Amino acid sequence: MKKFLCRTILGILCLLGLPSFAATPIHVMILDGESAASYHKWKVVTPILKKELDEVGLFDVDVVTAPPAGGDFSAFHPDWGKYKVIVFNYDAPEDRWPAELKASFEKYIKDGGGLVSVHASDNAFGGWQEFNEMIGVGGWRGRNEKSGPHWFYKDGKLTSDDSPGRAGSHGPRLPFKVTVQDSEHPITKGLPKTWMHQGDELYSNLRGPGKNMTVLATAYSDPANHGTGLDEPQLMVLSYGKGRIFHTAYGHDGLALSSVDAIVTFQRGVEWAATGKVTQRVPTSFPTADTVSYRTDIAAMDPNYAKGMNPMDLPVPPPPARGGLSTPAGTPPASAPAPTPQH
Ligand code: ZN
Repeated sequence: MKKFLCRTILGILCLLGLPSFAATPIHVMILDGESAASYHKWKVVTPILKKELDEVGLFDVDVVTAPPAGGDFSAFHPDWGKYKVIVFNYDAPEDRWPAELKASFEKYIKDGGGLVSVHASDNAFGGWQEFNEMIGVGGWRGRNEKSGPHWFYKDGKLTSDDSPGRAGSHGPRLPFKVTVQDSEHPITKGLPKTWMHQGDELYSNLRGPGKNMTVLATAYSDPANHGTGLDEPQLMVLSYGKGRIFHTAYGHDGLALSSVDAIVTFQRGVEWAATGKVTQRVPTSFPTADTVSYRTDIAAMDPNYAKGMNPMDLPVPPPPARGGLSTPAGTPPASAPAPTPQH
């Protein structure tokens, strides 16, 4: 009887008590407020990132919007310490933040805070050395050989090249294959060795200190699509002091962020940066070695979805039938004009 009672009480606790333990949320800040130009629509991207995190059931997400270019930063003092991880959907020049603000953020990460840098955020703060040490590599905003070498994978090893050159490049947005280089890390554990990522900018020629950096996954930057001919880092983890950083080069827009691998690695990367662990399962909808997989409900949060799933940087075809791919991933028509430079 006693045993039976114990079991019953345990069962009731399992039903009633444990979910509240599991529901202790991880506090996340998404920081936005600026991008280098209108090709990075942070106002579109933030709700997408928030939805992707809200769905996990682990996170309590606040959005903090920094003052715009030319705005008054004197009263902008984010309460970093309230959060386990800060997600950067933010790209401002290095002189935008006052020294005290930079110092407070450096201290937060150094003392064990988490940072997740999404796509354009590795363009931010070109000359802020401590930020570059956090993200490892970045592009544009004046970065060149003085920022650090170009890091890439060659013969199965992380390699660097300190030849002079500007940092940051990519071709038009096409689906590309991603290869895991570290399948033991909590973020990549259980993912396939290779998969297809839905049309996105394949960031290449990223340069920086690359200290305390582990490259989790790379993508071949194909010269046929203005690429470097090298396996370029796409997903990275770093440490900075006691802080953990997840750096994803994915995510030019809502269409790219609808790719299931972008969603899954982002959700897992945020949990890891916050806690050092990943408790999430890999969904069966994860893309395979030869097929992209994306969510139309996420893609539809980007107004450009109305023009088709793969508009790339080119004139777009007529709208697709709802829910389908607008165009096969292919080469643009020969008559297409040169794309406008975008990052
Ligand atoms: Zn971009």
